[in-house]
Amino acid sequence: MWVSSSRSPDCALIDSIDGRRGVRFSCVQRLPRQHADHCRLTLGGGNGWLTPAHGLTIDHLVRATVVSADGVARTCSAAEHADLFWGLRGGGCNFGVVTEFVFRLHPQEKMVFGGMVVYAPEKLEAIAQELERWFPTAGSKEAVHVYPGRAMSGEPAVTLLMFYNGPESEGREVFKAFTDLGPISDRRHEMPYETFNTMLDKWAGPGKCNWTRGFVVDRASKALTRTLFERIVALGDPAGPFRVSLCFEYMSQAAVDAVPNGATAYARNRPGLGNGIGLVSWDGAKPELEPRAKEILEELAGLVKFPGLRYGNYSAESDASKDEVRRIRAKDLYQEHYPRLQQLKRQYDPEMVFDKWYVIHPADEEEDKPQGK
Ligand SMILES: Cc1cc2nc3c(=O)[nH]c(=O)nc-3n(C[C@H](O)[C@H](O)[C@H](O)COP(=O)(O)OP(=O)(O)OC[C@H]3O[C@@H](n4cnc5c(N)ncnc54)[C@H](O)[C@@H]3O)c2cc1C
Repeated sequence: MWVSSSRSPDCALIDSIDGRRGVRFSCVQRLPRQHADHCRLTLGGGNGWLTPAHGLTIDHLVRATVVSADGVARTCSAAEHADLFWGLRGGGCNFGVVTEFVFRLHPQEKMVFGGMVVYAPEKLEAIAQELERWFPTAGSKEAVHVYPGRAMSGEPAVTLLMFYNGPESEGREVFKAFTDLGPISDRRHEMPYETFNTMLDKWAGPGKCNWTRGFVVDRASKALTRTLFERIVALGDPAGPFRVSLCFEYMSQAAVDAVPNGATAYARNRPGLGNGIGLVSWDGAKPELEPRAKEILEELAGLVKFPGLRYGNYSAESDASKDEVRRIRAKDLYQEHYPRLQQLKRQYDPEMVFDKWYVIHPADEEEDKPQGK
């Protein structure tokens, strides 16, 4: 979470790093005045445009208050209920309802540079090549998210959402090789960070249904294939009900990896280049379309099946309803941290009152004892 230096000290604008929405907090009361989707975003890790600079949201959480299944409100931090504090940071909504988050803030300049740059479909391979050249050099200020398939207009296209956390002149230079490829349109400009961070809200805002699925991002030449492109175009035909997008997030993971695996419950041993999110959205309250939306994302996920750990926040919570499947999902997500999380689950929610998202099963008396704890 970052506070804009230009705001008054008694009412800071805090931006959640999910690329989605700002939340107003009172510095005195530390209570959110406006609902936003910051809760599970934080509890599941927290990934966004400022991740290359600052890592995950959980790495800046200094304290949380949780009402666990026994109805007791506990304040936890590195000094108080440190085990619960460890589990919350990545263990999601498994231990109770979080009623307060306290974050360490970082200075953030008000203005950033970026926006959508749209290319004709035939540029796909050239873009992939340029991404491969640029990515190893990507620093803490820049990110490129790639959307092969259809532009917001509905036309087949490759859209790059470019972000530069600095002035326009520097940003244009950093991405010059991409714009030298000759886009159809370039809508980048300087804007307040909050504006950039909420640019995509309308894709999944109120009044729309959506289904999401995470995937692992690999090298652009392997990921951005013509087969995948054509399939997204076909599945997202504007004559049909669905808007279909796959987002490949290319940005440095160095700040995430700088925190030791084990410092929080979030498993960090991820060899992939980053996170990808598939999103199928449709207008109106039509839940009957959900099964088809799931099928679409399953099919596309099969085309980008790279090894590695998917980001839990990017997968909709009820995509596995069978108990055994849910157990496997949670073990996969938490990896070697799972036994320790099971101990915490037994302590704070033994009856599994909180059974959404990646559900941790409480440790039995005889099994799943944490190693070395
Ligand atoms: C279009 C789109 C873009 C996204 N982009 C990003 C992104 O850039 N970065 C990123 O990290 N994630 C991203 N996500 C995933 C996002 O983190 C989750 O969808 C979101 O955080 C869910 O949080 P919520 O508070 O809205 O939870 P809800 O959907 O309201 O709830 C989900 C679950 O969280 C639990 N929960 C909610 N509030 C609390 C609480 N106070 N205490 C304990 N448990 C609680 C509940 O068990 C609930 O079942 C994106 C999702 C979508 C749909």
